[in-house]
Amino acid sequence: MKRFLGWIILFLLSLGLIPILFNSELSFFAKIAGFIVLLAIIVALRVWGYQTKSKSPRNERFRFNKNDIFWIEKHIPFYSLLKKQDKQIFLDRMGLFIAHIKITEIDKEITENSTKFYVAASAVIAYWGLPYWNYGNLSEVLVYPSNFNDDQTLKSFGAIQGKVFHGGLMDNTIILSRPALIAGFQIGNDKKNVGVHEFAHLLDKADGDIDGVPNIVLGENDRKIWLKVMQQEMEKWQQKKSTIPPYALKSEAEFFAVVTEYFKECPKLLKHKNPELFEVLVKIYGEPPNC
Ligand SMILES: [Zn+2]
Repeated sequence: MKRFLGWIILFLLSLGLIPILFNSELSFFAKIAGFIVLLAIIVALRVWGYQTKSKSPRNERFRFNKNDIFWIEKHIPFYSLLKKQDKQIFLDRMGLFIAHIKITEIDKEITENSTKFYVAASAVIAYWGLPYWNYGNLSEVLVYPSNFNDDQTLKSFGAIQGKVFHGGLMDNTIILSRPALIAGFQIGNDKKNVGVHEFAHLLDKADGDIDGVPNIVLGENDRKIWLKVMQQEMEKWQQKKSTIPPYALKSEAEFFAVVTEYFKECPKLLKHKNPELFEVLVKIYGEPPNC
């Protein structure tokens, strides 16, 4: 009923205008022209209203049924550790993600719901705790049936499990390898989750550069602390005194993505082993809910 209310008001309004037009001294053609103009205005207003509504980014959600929620509880360790209230927020954000970002399994006609859930959960976990969040210009996540190589050719033993593009035709795309994506959730405390890793790169990219310094969530002072701690942790690793996975050493960008995975999966261990790094990540992501 509510969705037709606008139409009903406009219809009654135009009904009220009919006697005015008929009683006027206007010629027959002028009256017809008056009706056509009136109808055109009504239709234009309705179309405009519909279009602005459908473009609104936050009014549609994928609705989870009981089975979906049971599945998420079973397969997403981060979610299962949340308090009841936070679980609701988590599902709401997953629902928003699935409704607004296209998720495509390139080898299937229809993308499986489980794949959508893994991708959306990765995005929500990576951005969990941020004071403000959106996924920038991301419009599609392509899910490959295997790992891949630099030129995006599929290879079972390819080196790449996920990729965030920066610039060019694929700028608004992320690619994830399905086996790697799923493996990221199978062990909840191995410091590894490729989905979360790629979304950490996306957060880093929000200021225009994937350089390991997420300026969008760091104030000037925290930025200096972050650079100092990153340097210290890289040195610690050279002295073999670090528990951070070695891939972090590849570059500053990889350092940020790898320690984000670590922070999201094993906050207690990180707090114990690398307290300074933990503190600066709390400045970015807030207190981890699973700590
Ligand atoms: Zn990476």
